[in-house]
Parts: sequence; C-alpha cells; structure tokens
Amino acid sequence: MKLALLPGDGIGPEIVAQARKVLQRLGLKLEMREAAVGGAGYDAAEDPLPPATLSLAKEADAILFGAVGGPRYDALPRAKRPEQALLRLRKELGLFANLRPAQVHPQLAAASALKAELVAGLDILIVRELTGDIYFGEPRGIRAAGDGGREGFDTMRYSEAEVRRIARVAFEAARKRGKRVCSVDKANVLETSQLWREVMIQESKKYVDVELSHMYVDNCAMQLVRNPRQFDVIVTGNLFGDILSDEASMLTGSIGMLPSAALDASGKGLYEPIHGAAPDIAGKGVANPLASILSAAMMLRYSLGQEQAADRIEAAVKKVLSEGLRTADIHTPGTRKVGTGEMGDAVAAAL
Ligand code: NAD
Repeated sequence: MKLALLPGDGIGPEIVAQARKVLQRLGLKLEMREAAVGGAGYDAAEDPLPPATLSLAKEADAILFGAVGGPRYDALPRAKRPEQALLRLRKELGLFANLRPAQVHPQLAAASALKAELVAGLDILIVRELTGDIYFGEPRGIRAAGDGGREGFDTMRYSEAEVRRIARVAFEAARKRGKRVCSVDKANVLETSQLWREVMIQESKKYVDVELSHMYVDNCAMQLVRNPRQFDVIVTGNLFGDILSDEASMLTGSIGMLPSAALDASGKGLYEPIHGAAPDIAGKGVANPLASILSAAMMLRYSLGQEQAADRIEAAVKKVLSEGLRTADIHTPGTRKVGTGEMGDAVAAAL
C-alpha cells in the first residue's frame, strides 16, 4: 500500500512523524513517501502544491496530511497561500465526501463545554458533502435590485447523482458503526432539500440493514447540544455540514484529538486532523499527536480495508489515555503531562 505523507507547516511535521511511527509498528507492508505542501511547498518550489507533491498524492492509495499555514505566509497572494494546497488537492482528486467523527473518550469528558454526563462516550460521525451546494451553485453574484439598491444572490443546487453518491458513503460508513443514518435537510422550506430527502429514501432501500431517519437542520443544531448521543451517522449537504461539523467538534472540547477524512468516489482519501498548523506551539514538542494518529486509523479503515489495524490503533489510544498520559492541551490535575514524542512512543508501545 502506497501512502503519501504531506506534513506541511507548523506542528504538521511533528504530529505526522508520530503517526508514521505508529503506522510502522503495525507490521503492514506500507510504502510511505513524504513531500512538501503548504508553506513548505512554497519555500521549496514557490508553489503550495508543487507538481511533484501532486503526482505523489495522485499515485498514492491514501494521503496523510498534517496541517498548513502560518504567519510567515499570510501576506502572499491568494494563489500562493498554503491553504490553496488543500483546496487544489480536493479538486484534483475529486474528494467530495468529508467524514468528521466526534468522539469523547470517557477520560476526557470533563474537557467538553457540555456537562460530562451528556457527552461521555459520545461517538458520532458527520458525513458532509464537500463539492456542491450553495458554495458552488451558479448563478451567484451581486447585482442591481429593483429598488435602486443592490442585492446579493447564490444558488443552492444538488443533482440526484451528487446526493446519491454521498448517501452511499454515509450508508457504507454506518455499516461499519452503529447502522443508523440521520439525514439532515430543510425539506420543509427548500426544493433542493426535498430532492435530497427523496434520493436518500431511494438509496436507503439498498441498505436494509441500516436505519434511515430525517431531521431538519435547525432541530439538529439543537439536538447536538441537547442530546448528542442519540446520533450515529449524520449525513448532510455542504452548507449545513460546515456548521454542524464545527458544532459537533466542540462537543468534545479537545481540538487536538479529532481526525477527519475527505474521500473520492472509489474510497481513496485524504486524512488530516481538524486542527491547523498551531504556529503558537510549533517546534516546542508539546502538540497533541493523537488527531494525526487517529487520522491514520481512519485511513486504514476507509481507504485501505485494514479494519483490524484501525481498531488496534484506536484501542492503543484509549489505553494510553486510561493510563493517564496527557499532552498539555488535555492535561488535568492528577494526570501525567507528556510531550508530542512521548505520546507517540506510548501509542506505538501500546500496540
Ligand atoms: P489552529 O487549529 O492551528 O490552532 C488553534 C488553537 O488550538 C491554538 O491555540 C493551537 O495551539 C491549538 N492546537 C491546535 N492543534 C493542536 C494540537 N494538536 N495540540 C495542541 N494544541 C493544538 O487554528 P488557527 O490558530 O486558527 O490557525 C493557525 C494556522 O493554521 C493558520 O495559518 C490557519 O490558516 C491554518 N489552518 C490550517 C488548517 C489545515 O491545514 N487544514 C486548518 C485550520 C487552520
């Protein structure tokens, strides 16, 4: 299995090194190659996504991405800025399905902004469509309005085919988990959502072992803070998913713990922590590598068909947390504070 490792900037290289260490310990045949991306790509080749990096990503079976960005690159023109690398990778590789799990390890429940008893053991997966919807729909613009002023307008649009393919990702993912999908829409008001719901129902007939329910997005935003554990997989469009996935990640209270994936139609994917390059702590050896390590576990599960290896990594993470090891961001009195490398070593040893 060929892996492209794109560490990027800031804490990216520090955390990806730990994920690599853990992957190496699994005893699988993995060919791992690294390339520069983001600010590091700009430094090396004046391009946030140098051609050599793009071809490595295209040839690989899966991509493990660190993080990109940093104050040094903030003044660059838009096309040269580090975050362009991610946008271009998504487009070039057709990565249309964003998977964002939000899990609360019981040991970390106190870190949530919600009461610990509401979130302890929380394990939800948000599947967000990433390349359609009102963010890309045409026509859009700002034009003269009839009243002498101006008006802004955008177009919410989903084709049946786009809904069908994200539905499949959600149903397939649910099969590997709790076998329940909640489709989130605004079908009481929007035509786009009516079609979305119809296609979800059609597609669910092929997955009789998975239970499908529907929820309006406003209710879902409320239910996520009222009783988040009612959900298994949530599937939704780009706009609603953008907002709900950020809301859900905050239920866990620990940004350094959360992995994510962006998948194409054949299951190839780019895996990365949801956090950024954290320039404030880069180079200090204190960053939490668990989001990157858990991204590697997702990669094994969703792109490489290595379910058992993914389970092993997740169990190893649980074990080190149970033993009381904590990086600074999740440290509480009575636990042992460790650095990035020591946390990676502990997970590798726990395997
Ligand atoms: P950030 O996620 O980098 O950091 C937010 C806060 O969380 C910081 O205080 C940081 O120290 C902390 N943090 C993040 N990850 C951590 C970890 N693993 N362990 C411990 N603490 C951690 O967000 P930001 O500060 O808004 O952005 C910094 C840079 O990262 C910017 O250039 C931004 O554009 C970029 N960024 C990149 C991505 C990406 O590569 N996908 C995502 C978001 C932001």
